[in-house]
Amino acid sequence: MSSHRSILILGANGQIGTVLTEQLREKFGERAVVASDIREAEGSTGPFEIIDVTDGERLTEMIRKYKVTEIYHLAAILSATGEKMPLKTWDINMKGLLNVLEASRQETVSKVFFPSSIAVFGPTTPRVDTPNEVPLLPETVYGISKAVGENWCHYYHMRYGLDVRSLRYPGIISYQSDPGGGTTDYAVEIYHEALKHGSYTCFLGPDTRLPMMYMDDAIRATLELMEAPAEKIKKRNSYNLAAMSFSPSEQALSIKALMPEFEIRYEPDYRQKIAESWTESIDDSDARNDWGWKPEYSLDTMTKDMLFHLGQRYGKQVINE
Ligand code: NAD
Repeated sequence: MSSHRSILILGANGQIGTVLTEQLREKFGERAVVASDIREAEGSTGPFEIIDVTDGERLTEMIRKYKVTEIYHLAAILSATGEKMPLKTWDINMKGLLNVLEASRQETVSKVFFPSSIAVFGPTTPRVDTPNEVPLLPETVYGISKAVGENWCHYYHMRYGLDVRSLRYPGIISYQSDPGGGTTDYAVEIYHEALKHGSYTCFLGPDTRLPMMYMDDAIRATLELMEAPAEKIKKRNSYNLAAMSFSPSEQALSIKALMPEFEIRYEPDYRQKIAESWTESIDDSDARNDWGWKPEYSLDTMTKDMLFHLGQRYGKQVINE
């Protein structure tokens, strides 16, 4: 195989894409990484193209233009937004993935990353320490699209030998970028509101425990998975991935430890039902055993880091480092 590496990121302006683009450029050089999205990026440097993933022809044209060898397919409509427009979500999430897999198979792309989600789980899945292979009966259109997407990834690997790799991300928490319409968005908003107003009204109830991960860990997992030798990747549907699990009240306590005046209120909305259909903790031993995954951040170390970085942004230093 040639050493030429040309990476295309689809949905690069989102919560994960913003940080992943930066990290991939740091690692492989600015010119080796083309960012793309349906909308123009704010203040982006480096190569950028407008690509709507539902437009297969445009995607193929861009793969040819940049002789793309790897695709990170992040573009999707997330869980909470998806419930407001089920059919459109299905169209974007499924058509997008099939366009990516089919264009990759036909063109120069040899490796594809597809982010799945804990949203593939449903009420028939064991809730605690959820194993990798379990019944999947998701209750959101987003979850259905990810569960079916995992099957397509497996199919393209089995049928065509395409090197497709996937992770089931838990809720991702970051200071660098804002979340884009998921059920775990509260776990990011809470830090912003704590610093801006000293209080937060949470759209989930106090005891809804969900699997979560700090962005640094999520990006490192993605890069480690994509760099692992192909023979170590034994799962071609998707890998469970875990770091921590907590409820809103536990997260509030972790903030209170550093900001004693912080107060939380609860006003659960339609997202409560979505959260309750997911599982609360994840068994990621396959990822650990197959390609050596190990998380670094816990709830308290993440809280400290979030409050430090966001504190700098809002001019309110609660952490001195
Ligand atoms: P996001 O909503 O922040 O970003 C998604 C990006 O996709 C946006 O910039 C949006 O403009 C773009 N997009 C939407 N429709 C598009 C289209 N038709 N063509 C091209 N681009 C389009 O999402 P994110 O949080 O960055 O998530 C990235 C991926 O990771 C998604 O596939 C998501 O399902 C998955 N994921 C995220 C989380 C999380 O907590 N953030 C958890 C599990 C899985």
